[in-house]
Amino acid sequence: MTEATATIEKPDVYRLMPTRLQEQAESGKTRCNLCLWRCGLHHGQRGFCQAHVNRNGTLYNLSYGIISAMDVGAIEEKPVRHYRPGTKVLSVGSYGCSFRCGGCHNLEISWGTEALDSLARGESRAAFVTPEQLVQAALESGVEGIAFTYSEPAVWLEYVLDVAEEAHNHGLYTVYVSNSFVTEEALALLSGRIDVLCSDIKSMEEKFYRNICAMASVDQVLHSIKKAQELGIHVETRTNIIPGYNDQDENISAVAAWIHQNLGSDSPWHVTRFHPAYRMAHVPSTPVERLERAAHLGREQGLQHVYVYADKGCDCATENAPVQHYLPDWASLHEVKKCADTCCGDDGILLSRYEREAGIAHERR
Ligand code: SF4
Ligand code: SF4
Repeated sequence: MTEATATIEKPDVYRLMPTRLQEQAESGKTRCNLCLWRCGLHHGQRGFCQAHVNRNGTLYNLSYGIISAMDVGAIEEKPVRHYRPGTKVLSVGSYGCSFRCGGCHNLEISWGTEALDSLARGESRAAFVTPEQLVQAALESGVEGIAFTYSEPAVWLEYVLDVAEEAHNHGLYTVYVSNSFVTEEALALLSGRIDVLCSDIKSMEEKFYRNICAMASVDQVLHSIKKAQELGIHVETRTNIIPGYNDQDENISAVAAWIHQNLGSDSPWHVTRFHPAYRMAHVPSTPVERLERAAHLGREQGLQHVYVYADKGCDCATENAPVQHYLPDWASLHEVKKCADTCCGDDGILLSRYEREAGIAHERR
């Protein structure tokens, strides 16, 4: 496996970024080892998350520096309660997720298919912000930390790592809000750069993850959460309670028992409320009594810090208007994003599919 650190430069214009964890696999594919999908891709293909493309055998992140949403708020809103309470964070997200949850509220950003497509076609006008510029915006906003959220940070890792390093250099802490479907190799890269992980534990039932999220298993997710804590990252967990899907007493108690046994009785657990969306639009909002019941079961399992949010679901954003708010007069917001490299030609089209549609045949290098 190669870690392509040496080839990474800090760009001053939009540029595709080689991903950190990639290796040559069977049949000419290149394998991505950022998340547990471990996609094997041929030239011109993109991964499940849609955020990575194979060009001539090298995997690139389409969304390096591409911002979908920004906001300033209390760290408690992430939700994180036991790390620097009372401080503010700049929350930032891009496009792409390693899951396809049936109740996701955030499809335009989390899946981001349209936005990532327009990047792959060389037509995007999304905001492009270098790590240095983002940290500057954070400092000017008066926050003490930066949180990577809204989209899944594991599929945006190159940017997350560069921003985290720059943030630490300026005394800011870093928060990573995730589904934890991430490889150990990626977690090792996060160690020392990410201070806080706020992770979902969506259920203890295999069928929930398989049916509602993606081809993930409970064990994979739990292993990553435990590993993150072993690496010295401050970990807090949250469970979005969905009526009829994961709100059974046995399931809730099993989540709490796992936290107690593996993260400790003092590990904070956040219980949030489901609101109907997407394929689960027919499911009602969680009754507040179910949230209170879940908290009761958590305390019964010995958890000392259980927090209930009747007004909060996922840490989602539904539009990218705040980007303009925090980056006023930002010229790059309105410029078409084409990679500054030349391997795909002047048109900036990055996927074979779109090259064919446009009647272009680029020579492979
Ligand atoms: S980060 Fe994307 S391309 Fe990489 S393994 Fe995960 S889904 Fe596949
Ligand atoms: S709910 Fe979270 S993990 Fe699931 S698809 Fe949406 S952003 Fe991804």
